[in-house]
Amino acid sequence: MADVRALVKGEFEDSTDVVVLGAGAAGIAAAIAAARSGARTTLVEAGSLPGGELISGMAVDGALNARGEWILGGVGRELFRECEDAGGFVAALNDFRLIWYVCIDPEVMKLAVVRCLARAGVRLLLHTVATGVEVEGRQVKAIHLLNKSGRTRLAARYFLDCSGDADLVRAAGGEVVQGGVYGELQPVSLMFKMSQVQTAPLLRFMIEHPEHFALGESEAIRQGRDDAALAQAAVRQGQPTVFLKGDGPLLSGAISSGAMYPTALIMIQPTAPQRGEVCLNTTRIGEIDGTRTEVLSGTVKPLVDQVLQCAQFMRANVPGFETAAYSGISHRIGVRETRRIVGRETLLESDVLGARKRSDAVAKGSHHVDIHQSGAGQIRIPVAGGGSYDIPWGCLLPPALDNLAAAGRIISSDRGANGSARVMGPCLGMGHAVGAACGLAMASGQADLAKVPVEALRARLLSEGAILNGTH
Ligand SMILES: Cc1cc2nc3c(=O)[nH]c(=O)nc-3n(C[C@H](O)[C@H](O)[C@H](O)COP(=O)(O)OP(=O)(O)OC[C@H]3O[C@@H](n4cnc5c(N)ncnc54)[C@H](O)[C@@H]3O)c2cc1C
Repeated sequence: MADVRALVKGEFEDSTDVVVLGAGAAGIAAAIAAARSGARTTLVEAGSLPGGELISGMAVDGALNARGEWILGGVGRELFRECEDAGGFVAALNDFRLIWYVCIDPEVMKLAVVRCLARAGVRLLLHTVATGVEVEGRQVKAIHLLNKSGRTRLAARYFLDCSGDADLVRAAGGEVVQGGVYGELQPVSLMFKMSQVQTAPLLRFMIEHPEHFALGESEAIRQGRDDAALAQAAVRQGQPTVFLKGDGPLLSGAISSGAMYPTALIMIQPTAPQRGEVCLNTTRIGEIDGTRTEVLSGTVKPLVDQVLQCAQFMRANVPGFETAAYSGISHRIGVRETRRIVGRETLLESDVLGARKRSDAVAKGSHHVDIHQSGAGQIRIPVAGGGSYDIPWGCLLPPALDNLAAAGRIISSDRGANGSARVMGPCLGMGHAVGAACGLAMASGQADLAKVPVEALRARLLSEGAILNGTH
């Protein structure tokens, strides 16, 4: 009989006021807001750095509406300021296609996230996986954690699921759904960066050949202008904010000839002008369930092949990229879609598209319904009038559990609404809301987060700089 020897031996008991599971956009904002309100806050993250997609190179969508008005304030904006103060590029830019977004330097954002968490007094547990949850009736009592030091039972008063996969809600017995009605899932992607890109020739190429680029897909952005005028406006903005479209002659020709893999777009956005660096969001493998670790791990090799293929395509075909250098991949494979919670309320696609406003809003969104499909497909439907919609408190509350809330891409939403609310602006706003709610609940000795008066929560969020009113 084999002698089984454990690699991990320690058994620990610990306690805190608030446990936040997952240090992506939602979890970071949640932990900062909770800790700032006086709660002892522990942020648990399986990876090696806090940040999630916020440090992958992609731009933050849904922080402004398509009219260029800010709809994100509070903790999210503080992270941008911290990044800027540390010398990082942060710019609100028009993509001249569908949205305004915030382009950031992911390398400096890594520093900013760590500094903001530390300043708020958040206890960070990296390299730590949640393996279980203890539930008694409607209350979560403790979360079970595993890392190299051993196993820890971490008891807390409040739990925030910011795992991107609703791991905690699901394990605690809350209802979750996944993907579309036929189990469809958005593709996974690996973001990558190229440096020493020349912006002027790239934008000149767009002026000379607008047919290759996605421009003015909503009236809020187009404002009656033709493609040439939009390309001229992009030149005046002076940043490499361009989208090569999969059905344009250049990219579709390359896809047909096999020089490129099928993709809807090559989305190019600046990350660090001082390095002439851009992030390219384009690689994709469809219908992958990101909660199946072995399947997800199997995508990294084909995604890396796509990175090399796309870098080669850009150098050979796109002015400004002739001498550009590959300068890095994201720290993780990007998973767009897994589970969503079924909350007390559900955000609907019609709420998003109709820019619906609510008196119980605790965050906002503005991104178009954006559902990537396998191959070259993508659904993109803009919000009415380039406006914003409200995210009600009930969308973050699983009905069967009192001291557990959720934030981020797992928000209770139908698939269309999730195609919008999943982006990082709303994730930051929702995180701020659930963190602040824990602070209010703790101060009043309330064990049920749903009983935190939404007017008090809104007042707290507004006092902390959140934007909840007064935008289109
Ligand atoms: C390829 C791609 C492109 C995108 N493009 C954009 C874009 O351009 N702009 C934009 O704004 N948004 C974009 N999005 C959407 C957006 O990035 C995500 O939806 C958003 O970042 C989700 O944030 P989150 O905090 O909910 O989850 P995540 O960022 O996924 O964070 C969850 C964290 O929880 C941790 N975790 C999960 N389970 C456990 C566990 N059991 N134990 C411990 N830790 C755990 C994970 O390691 C992870 O760090 C894109 C997404 C992808 C994948």
